Amino acid sequence: MKVAKWYNNTDIRIEDMPKPAPGRNEILVKVISCGICGSDIVEWYRLPRAPLIPGHEIGGQVVETGESVSGFKPGDRVFVAPKVPCMICYYCKNGFHPVCSNVKDRLPGGFAEYVLVPASIVAAGTYILPESISYDQSTFMEPLACVVRAQKLAAIQQGQTVLVIGCGMSGLLHVKLGKAKSCKVVATDIQPQKLVYAERAGADITIEADENVPEVLLARNGRKADVVILCASALSAVEQAWNSVEKGGTIVFFTVPGPDKKVEIPLNYFWTREIKILTSYYCGPPDILKAIDLLETGTIEVDDLITHKLPLEEIVKGYRLVVEGRDSVKVIITPDDDSNGKI
Ligand SMILES: [Zn+2]
Ligand SMILES: [Zn+2]
Repeated sequence: MKVAKWYNNTDIRIEDMPKPAPGRNEILVKVISCGICGSDIVEWYRLPRAPLIPGHEIGGQVVETGESVSGFKPGDRVFVAPKVPCMICYYCKNGFHPVCSNVKDRLPGGFAEYVLVPASIVAAGTYILPESISYDQSTFMEPLACVVRAQKLAAIQQGQTVLVIGCGMSGLLHVKLGKAKSCKVVATDIQPQKLVYAERAGADITIEADENVPEVLLARNGRKADVVILCASALSAVEQAWNSVEKGGTIVFFTVPGPDKKVEIPLNYFWTREIKILTSYYCGPPDILKAIDLLETGTIEVDDLITHKLPLEEIVKGYRLVVEGRDSVKVIITPDDDSNGKI
């Protein structure tokens, strides 16, 4: 089978590997759609494990099952989570699924014709796709679950002002979810084109990032933001977040600057205003179930965010589109299709 091996963002090689056969408790899934995630292009995050087969936003079809598998059969349409928490450790029991200390297996990357799903993920991380969710839509399941978790941690309430800094795919999902919660959503990005997407996604106010965001926010909204969600890693974005949050408000780091970057926190200023800083990393099973529900019921629509579909052979182009971030939002790789897929 063909796989894409990632060495860095500009060196991704299509290689041949033997097609795996499932063991007793494993299943083999043919990858139909796999999204390129914003985290896939973060080299400092991925390089320590390179070369690797990336891709963790996987929608596919079961083609073979091990002899002891009873929950799935060939032909089933599934979404496969990249890893599953144990659900019994201290962290899982307290809702910190992303930091579970007993994660057994990692799913092999989805930029491949097939993925062999390990037993623990067959048991607790493989979800049958409802009829109304397409393979392409299923690639939003994992990023939407992460967005669900971040907004849950921030305890976002109806009527609050939510400022989303950075309108890539995740930022736009934050805009949509904020609107679904009847919040007033303000979006900012350095690319004017992204603000067009943000408006289409429902943002009430959009602000170009090179403007004085807190000032414009105050002028147009009458107050600063109750919740600021950072979906950009530039230090200037962090600075904007510090200055755009309302007293008693919350700043959520959904994206963070690289490990070599130092961030100065105006702690004294925050202390006297009771401003909270949160981080949100990945998602847990309850968030995935919520994301399935949001997609199935059409509460969150995602088709308008799909800008590109490319065959596996064009994955370098896909990465370039995501790295440049100008003309793309969601780029989906379709390993099963070599017909130069169109949307
Ligand atoms: Zn992701
Ligand atoms: Zn655990």
